[in-house]
Amino acid sequence: MATLQQVLQKAVREGELYEKMERGFVRCYACGHCCRIPDGQLGVCKVRYNQGGKLFVPWGYVASAQCDPIEKKPFFHAYPGALAYSFGMLGCDLHCGYCQNWVTSQALRDPGAVSPPLRATPEGLVREALQQGAKVVVSTYNEPLITSEWALAVFKEARAAGLITAYVSNGNGTPQVLEYLRPWVDLYKVDLKSFEDRHYRELGGRMQPILETIRKLHEMGFWVEIVTLVVPGFNDSNDELKRMAEFISSVSPDIPWHVTAFHKDYKMTGPENTSSQTLVRAAGIGKAAGLRFVYAGNIPGRTGELENTYCPNCHELLVERVGFHVLDYRLTATGTCSGCGAGIPGRWAASFEGQIADVPYLPKFQKFDRIRAFRR
Ligand code: SF4
Repeated sequence: MATLQQVLQKAVREGELYEKMERGFVRCYACGHCCRIPDGQLGVCKVRYNQGGKLFVPWGYVASAQCDPIEKKPFFHAYPGALAYSFGMLGCDLHCGYCQNWVTSQALRDPGAVSPPLRATPEGLVREALQQGAKVVVSTYNEPLITSEWALAVFKEARAAGLITAYVSNGNGTPQVLEYLRPWVDLYKVDLKSFEDRHYRELGGRMQPILETIRKLHEMGFWVEIVTLVVPGFNDSNDELKRMAEFISSVSPDIPWHVTAFHKDYKMTGPENTSSQTLVRAAGIGKAAGLRFVYAGNIPGRTGELENTYCPNCHELLVERVGFHVLDYRLTATGTCSGCGAGIPGRWAASFEGQIADVPYLPKFQKFDRIRAFRR
């Protein structure tokens, strides 16, 4: 039987985010590793590889596709209530022990991660998104940066159909990949996992490319929201949370910061699940650092008002939520506070269009429409 690696090498095409070098080497720019890859070898992500002096990249499949409320991504300042058609491929440039998407992200590293690739076309994915009533198409579940050529093919089709596009990413980017994405990606969520370089090295990366990516994303006009999964004993000290919050605030106090609860997952089963008190403490640190929109996530109904959006000027309740469910929406058609008229940063619809789903679901006809498993 063919290995997963062999199966995936049938689903590739020549990439765009690379340059040819001397002696058959290539340099990949899709993520902050900037791998210099000799002929016949894989990059760190194990899904991009050099063959004959050309870089080959994933193409023409998904490992999962699902309809999520946009609040799950999470985006709280972008089209509240919208359905986000979400797709992912396989692989990641990091290897976080607590990854909640490890079945897809670690499929090339961990034989326990089984998620068969399924053939797909950009047209088929977008058709399905439209049939489901999605407003947004999202590249997620694996690290989208490492599969950017495919994401852009899907997004070009999505834009032509009037849809919004988004990345849910670890933020380990490069200037080259951000320039490549800018015309086609509207919303960008970054996981800021720590403010210690040694922690990032434990996860397989470096901190500096992530911080540079966050700054550049904001400068370039992507709508950015940041999430920190607060893991007890890993990144939950007051000092580290304060440095993260101060960094985000230095980029812009208008960037929403989501502090979310860890639960035991994958290889990280040692730390206790994050308590609501810890999230409330983290949120307080964010606000003290000047952030105007701080949210607590993953433990609905247990963090008081930290799931809602308030006007930072007059404190009017603007979006009321429990978990992924939008209970009330009071922004004006132009995205201002209905109380005082202050502009609220974000990407807002002209009116609240209701919510198709407040829990994730699989499009039930997908197996008939676009999906045929690769032979292994
Ligand atoms: S995507 Fe990142 S890890 Fe993969 S080959 Fe390119 S630079 Fe290396």
